[in-house]
Amino acid sequence: MSRVYNFSAGPAVLPEEVLREAAEEMLDYRGCGMSVMEMSHRSKAFDTIIKEAEADLRELMNIPDNYKVLFLQGGASQQFAAVPMNLMKNRKAGYIITGQWAKKAFQEAKLYGEAVELASSADKTFSYIPDCSDLEIADDLDYVYICENNTIYGTKYKTLPNTKGHDLIADVSSCFLSEPVDVSRYGVIYGGVQKNIGPAGVVIAIIREDLIRDDVLPGTPTMLKYKTQADNDSLYNTPPCYGIYICGKVFKWLKKMGGLEEMKKRNEAKAKILYDFLDESRLFSGTVRREDRSLMNVPFVTGDAEKDAEFIAQAKAAGFENLKGHRTVGGMRASIYNAMPQEGVEKLVAFMKDFEAKDR
Ligand SMILES: *Cc1c(COP(=O)(O)O)cnc(C)c1O
Repeated sequence: MSRVYNFSAGPAVLPEEVLREAAEEMLDYRGCGMSVMEMSHRSKAFDTIIKEAEADLRELMNIPDNYKVLFLQGGASQQFAAVPMNLMKNRKAGYIITGQWAKKAFQEAKLYGEAVELASSADKTFSYIPDCSDLEIADDLDYVYICENNTIYGTKYKTLPNTKGHDLIADVSSCFLSEPVDVSRYGVIYGGVQKNIGPAGVVIAIIREDLIRDDVLPGTPTMLKYKTQADNDSLYNTPPCYGIYICGKVFKWLKKMGGLEEMKKRNEAKAKILYDFLDESRLFSGTVRREDRSLMNVPFVTGDAEKDAEFIAQAKAAGFENLKGHRTVGGMRASIYNAMPQEGVEKLVAFMKDFEAKDR
C-alpha cells in the first residue's frame, strides 16, 4: 500500500489514523456484528455515535448552549437555499461576494427575495477580502452572509465583517475546525464536511436557537426547515450515518491532537512554509493579497500555462496529487487541510525548489 500526498480541495485528505480505525471496525462495529453502514439510525449504537459526535464538536468549538448542532445532507449548496428559506423574514438580505461560492449563494437567495450585494472583490478576480468594517447596511436586512474561506481563490476573512447588529451567516466549508472561532458572533455557521472534516454527504449547521422557527418562507420543504431537523435531533429521516460516524472519529482525533488552538498553530506553521517559499521564488508566485491569505487553500502560478501543466504532471508523477487549480482559475492550488502533515508541505516545497532549479 502506498498513499500519496493529496492536496485536493475536496473531498480531501483525512487522518490516516481515522481511516485505519474505520477499516478495523468495518465488518464488526464494536461487537455489533455489522458495519455502521448496515445498522439502523434508530439503534442504540448509532444513537451513541451521533450524540458523542455532537458532544465532541461542542467541546472542540466551545459551542454555547443556545446553539443547535445539526447534521444535514444536500451539501453546502443546499444551504444556499435553506438559509434564505428559513431566515429571510423581510425578504431582504445582504451578501458579500468574495468568490464563486458566495456568488452562488447570492444568486440562490435572489430566488426567495431581494439579495443585496454589500461588497465584492470581483474587480480583482477575488484575490482579496474587501474592507467590511463600515459597510452601508440597511436596517431591514434579515442577515449578512459571507463565505469565510474562499476555497477556489484562497482568501480568508481575518476579521469578521461589522454587520451593524445583523445576524452573520457564514459558509465555513473549507475552514471548518482549522482554528478556534467565537461561535457567539454568528447566527449560523455551516459547512460541508468533505473539505476539512469527513466524507462527502454531511453538512454541519450550527444555528442560534432563536433563528430556528416556524415562520419560514411559504413553500419551504419540510426537510429544509431547520425546525424540523432541530426538533428531531437530526433524525427526522435517515441521516448520513456513515459520514457522521467518520466525522465523530475526526473530532476525537482533533481532541487528541490538542484541539483547535493546536490545529491553528500547526496550520499556520504549514502554510508559512509554502507562502515563504512563494514569496522568495523566482518561478512561482501566490495569487492572493498577503493579509487575506487562507491557511487552507494556497493558489499559485508560474505565469505560464504550459509550465503550470508541466509542473502539475511532474508533481503527480512524484506522488503529489490534485495540485491543479480550480477549472475556472487555472494555475495550481495546494489545499493543506488539518489532515495534511507538515512533512507533505515540506516535501512539496522541496519538489517545487527542484523544479525551479531545473527551469532555465
Ligand atoms: C465546496 C464548497 C461548497 C460546495 O459544497 P457542496 O457540498 O459540493 O455543495 C460551498 N462552499 C464552499 C466554501 C466550498 O468550499
